[in-house]
Amino acid sequence: LAKERGRNNWQMFTDAINVAAAERMALESSLRRALEAGELVLEYQPQVELGAGRVVAVEALVRWSSPQRGIVAPSEFIPVAEESGIIVDLGAWVLDTACRQLHEWKTAGLGPVQMAINLSGRQFRDPQLPERVARALERHAIPPGCLELEIAESCVMTDAGESIERLTRLKAMGLHMTVDNFGIAYSSLNHLKRLPIDKLKIDRSFIRDLPEDADAAAIAATIIAMGRSLDLTVVAEGVESEEQLAFLRTRGCTQIQGHYFCPPLPARGCTHFLATRPRLALD
Ligand code: C2E
Ligand code: MG
Ligand code: MG
Repeated sequence: LAKERGRNNWQMFTDAINVAAAERMALESSLRRALEAGELVLEYQPQVELGAGRVVAVEALVRWSSPQRGIVAPSEFIPVAEESGIIVDLGAWVLDTACRQLHEWKTAGLGPVQMAINLSGRQFRDPQLPERVARALERHAIPPGCLELEIAESCVMTDAGESIERLTRLKAMGLHMTVDNFGIAYSSLNHLKRLPIDKLKIDRSFIRDLPEDADAAAIAATIIAMGRSLDLTVVAEGVESEEQLAFLRTRGCTQIQGHYFCPPLPARGCTHFLATRPRLALD
């Protein structure tokens, strides 16, 4: 009887794995189709410099609106794209679309604003990345200094030596490099000091609990101080309240991104935002 039950458990277990694998494959193939069918769109979220209250950059964030699945969050499909390799084509599409949009804004006189693009680990490690970026910039007549690449701390910190080489190459092209989701991957200070980067983006998990949570407050303040002493720009993401803004500002954080100023917007909405609120009154 026990043996029988063991077999049943095993059966249920393998069934569950098969179902999960089948779902995963279905998601993968509909994502592939989505890319070709034009179901992906970019939204854009402004980053505001606190000094002048000016929008200094806009981050491109990909969205998938699927006729079958509804709105699928990037946290759901980016990992699938990453594991299946779809990220290569998806990333190329993001780069092209964001550069085209930036060109449109510049032509309309809505600059000077940088475009920030997220790269996953696989994109960052792609030996052809510099060439792909160079071609997209050329295609849309975008100077390299107008493009910022965001790479998660966890990606930058694996393979320290190789990361430095890759970052150096991208920086030499004139691009700006940002370490995204900073503070959760245990970077050593020594390592951070050696990275050729321009900006640290404090992970949203620390911002969320400001200013009440003593640990989050200590970590955010430490990252800001550390960034400043290394001559890096420090930006906080996920800022939602006046209190969070006040905390960050008094600690010396110079750039802010979050719903407090502006959520990610569809292209037209962002065009409107840039046209009507290039400078925000901050006090
Ligand atoms: P991320 O780059 O750290 O982006 C910040 C996330 O925080 C975005 O989530 C944004 O919508 C959200 N956010 C911004 N302000 C606030 C706020 O005030 N409150 C709250 N609660 N959330 C806020 P989203 O758009 O769901 O993107 C999730 C992640 O997916 C991104 O994290 C990024 O790692 C990845 N991703 C998005 N677009 C791309 C892309 O084009 N390529 C790659 N490789 N990854 C992407
Ligand atoms: Mg980002
Ligand atoms: Mg982030």
